[in-house]
Amino acid sequence: MTESTKKVNLLGMSPAKLEVFFEEIGEKKFRATQVIKWIHQLGASSFEEMTNISKALRLKLEEVAEIREPEVLLEKVSKDGTKKWVIRTESGSSVEAVLIPDGDRKTLCVSSQVGCSLDCSFCSTGKQGFNSNLTAAEIIGQLRIAIRSYGDYNTTSQRVVSNVVMMGMGEPLMNFDNVVDAMTLMMEDNAYCLSKRRVTLSTAGVVPAIDKLAEVTDVSLAVSIHAPNDDLRDILVPINKRYPINDLVDACNRYLGKLSDKRVITVEYTLINGVNDKPEHAKQLLKVLRRMPSKLNIIPFNPFPNSGYERPTEERILAFKEIIVHGGIVTTVRRTRGDEIDAACGQLVGQVEDRTRRSQKYIPVVQQGLE
Ligand code: SAH
Repeated sequence: MTESTKKVNLLGMSPAKLEVFFEEIGEKKFRATQVIKWIHQLGASSFEEMTNISKALRLKLEEVAEIREPEVLLEKVSKDGTKKWVIRTESGSSVEAVLIPDGDRKTLCVSSQVGCSLDCSFCSTGKQGFNSNLTAAEIIGQLRIAIRSYGDYNTTSQRVVSNVVMMGMGEPLMNFDNVVDAMTLMMEDNAYCLSKRRVTLSTAGVVPAIDKLAEVTDVSLAVSIHAPNDDLRDILVPINKRYPINDLVDACNRYLGKLSDKRVITVEYTLINGVNDKPEHAKQLLKVLRRMPSKLNIIPFNPFPNSGYERPTEERILAFKEIIVHGGIVTTVRRTRGDEIDAACGQLVGQVEDRTRRSQKYIPVVQQGLE
């Protein structure tokens, strides 16, 4: 074990956890607010910089704690301005984060796990199996890395990232506590101060965790549905066998019911040629969508080697969209961004040392994003 790994990493600590930390080392709780501002608003990486804290306390902190960000192995910038980072994790694997600029809006797509345990049939992350959860520091670290890539870390550059979506590698609700801590920091006034409408958690539908989420936070919710009936969804999104569509819709309604403002569920639907893109699928989907306040985001399938699936033609995509729009549901089609740097949805692979051995069934997929 190296010297640094023995120290407590303060980077991913929520305000509540940081208060506990200060009390445990015999200091006042309000130090937490000071330190959070230094770390997250001013981008501090050392205690030395924290000039409103006494020299004695700074020295004490240096002995027991650290502010350690995950290491960036690679940064790629695409012609359309999309940036992708390959980030090394404590577990020795790597994950990816993607920043997608679109006019004034810059959306950061954040990973929550190394690999994923859910095994959705059309997702390259799923094909790699599962390795480990990211720590809260590794999750919030992706936001710090993205902000810093635009220059000095100060209160102006902090506004660089306007939206965060937990739509990178992994299932965020299977890494519940760390994801909640990181999202708390994203919305915290003394940290990144993002509105709850601009922080979105995307889930494949871990129903009990959606209920638990409503008790601790009020971020916006996106749900990966991908199929309009249980028979098909059982194949595409295997967790459906445990939590079928009806249960998922009920959980979404419960979640929205607990929010203090009016919001809708973003329903994601990866459109796969000949699999879930027929007019009858659209008609069935419409019935599901009408059962909760929702908008639809169609994601044309992004191919990866040996997936066995194809993206539908533009005509088929538009025909599917038309049926839903006619049914009165707001619908968008996600444009593919960062194509040439493999930064599109479902193309994020990092490097996962698979502990489930699932990846052995699909060998060539791995490492696509690292070349
Ligand atoms: N596990 C969470 C977070 C991942 S989000 C979830 O399932 O919501 C990533 C989004 O991209 C999900 O909607 C996912 O289903 C979608 N996706 C995965 N692979 C894809 C691919 N090859 N093409 C297009 N979209 C894909």
